[in-house]
Amino acid sequence: MTHLCVPIFVTDLAQAKRDIAAAAEAGADMVELRLDRLKDFGIVPEVVRESILPVIATDRPTWEGGHSDADDAERMTLLMVAGCEGAKYIDIELQAVKSHEAVFRKLRGGDDPREINLILSFHDFSGRPAKLYNIVKEMDSLPADIDKLVWTARTIRDNAEVFELIAHRQRPMIALCMGEAGLMSRVLAKKFGGFLTFASLDSKSVTAPGQVSINDLKNLYRWDAINEKTKVFGVVANPVAHSMSPAIHNAAFDATSFDGVYLPMLVDGSYESFKAFMETFAPIESLHLSGLSVTIPHKGNALRYLKEKGAEIEDLAQLIGAVNTIAISQNGPNPILRGWNTDYAAIVDSITDKLGIKRENLSKLRVGVIGAGGTGRTAVAALAHFGAIVMVSNRTHDRAAALAAEFNGRRGIVAAISTDDLCRRDLDVVINTTSVGMHPNIEANPAPDLKMTKNMVIFDTVYNPAQTKFLQLAEAAGARTIGGIEMFVRQATSQFTIWTGIPAPREIMHEVVVARLKS
Ligand code: NAP
Repeated sequence: MTHLCVPIFVTDLAQAKRDIAAAAEAGADMVELRLDRLKDFGIVPEVVRESILPVIATDRPTWEGGHSDADDAERMTLLMVAGCEGAKYIDIELQAVKSHEAVFRKLRGGDDPREINLILSFHDFSGRPAKLYNIVKEMDSLPADIDKLVWTARTIRDNAEVFELIAHRQRPMIALCMGEAGLMSRVLAKKFGGFLTFASLDSKSVTAPGQVSINDLKNLYRWDAINEKTKVFGVVANPVAHSMSPAIHNAAFDATSFDGVYLPMLVDGSYESFKAFMETFAPIESLHLSGLSVTIPHKGNALRYLKEKGAEIEDLAQLIGAVNTIAISQNGPNPILRGWNTDYAAIVDSITDKLGIKRENLSKLRVGVIGAGGTGRTAVAALAHFGAIVMVSNRTHDRAAALAAEFNGRRGIVAAISTDDLCRRDLDVVINTTSVGMHPNIEANPAPDLKMTKNMVIFDTVYNPAQTKFLQLAEAAGARTIGGIEMFVRQATSQFTIWTGIPAPREIMHEVVVARLKS
């Protein structure tokens, strides 16, 4: 069993009791009482005795990232008091034990019947300790009950070493990476059989960088459902912290009782970083990495990597030059990888569904695309592929011209024109693929001179706000509209079905996005 432990900085009696009760209420099965900010040690016996959850007592010194300036003897005395009052575990730093090994061995070797379990800990806030495996060996040579190794992840790949350490443990082990890149190790501790993971009571009471709140761990990252066979999915991006994908996909796993968990995966922008990420995690059999969403800045990297591996890649993803979805169907030395672009399908199918036509009927349409960035390129390539007449405009005209030169004549017609010119054309569909109108500039309009009519479909890929100025004007003119949320949900539902083989719970995924945007 992997415990879910809430760390609490103890400052006074009432606060400690309140926080312990809140941790129990939130679903923790253990608390770590951090005593290193406490001024009045006299309250320790009562706090520990009356705790309704099993206690780890910790008095972390400043030299190991904590707040206590007391010497080792004082700290150990305080921890022993906590132990005598009923703390089930006490945490002592490896360094402190090494400096007082004789005392420590005597303590451990005595015939005291009280059951105090010792956590031997090592923390490195600067990165992976240089002599990690020597530290593990040293720990194993000492008579402790649980080893704890925590360091700040240099990159997401450090999590792989955490999984390996836990898998090869000699005795119960807590191994975690701090920082944003270390999230995997915290959420997947249960999958790999770590002794515990830490989760904060709320975002204000975090005791180490990268700690997630107990609410997020349980309700966003599906802690209660995770087991050793759970399939792992994620969004590879940089930045990734504000991605809505974990919320939408985990809610879909919940709704369908699919045994999966979806995580944000922070990977530096270079191709080398993307490749290193894939080569590290895809082959780990026990991780069951099964699917990835890929977004800025990695869609091109994903395509290049899959090509290099000779993977099966959807034709249109190759044409667009971007893969946003990877499925991994077998882990081990030679994982089977496949790649798709579900963004283009989301754009195309939003339009065909709105008009009640088939994809092949897109060839009868005249479409204006405003913007020639990544989304503009996806729209132009896909619409031209299905034979539409596409007019593309962009603030930087050369980018639109380059797009037109690349895709004109393949099947449909693509011409680069100015936005003023686009506004004068007789068009069936107009798509905004720029960020104009996005929060906070919500009054901005990407094509102020466009004459919208009720025969047109106006599509805004911006999803924050849900109802952009562009869409408001379209509705006022009686045009049919498609919003960015619809596109976002569609690309996600396609991913879900690619990975799981089951229909996606679309309504629920839509609700999650709307709720997230509101909050
Ligand atoms: P991108 O590659 O950076 O392209 C940005 C585009 O916006 C470029 O064409 C750029 O023109 C244009 N632009 C930016 N600021 C402008 C301004 N002030 N005036 C006129 N044009 C401006 O970004 P992207 O990934 O394509 O994303 C673009 C938009 O699509 C975003 O707003 C995003 O919300 C939306 N999007 C939605 C979804 C969805 O699922 N709904 C998915 C992806 C993206 P220049 O070439 O002149 O710089």
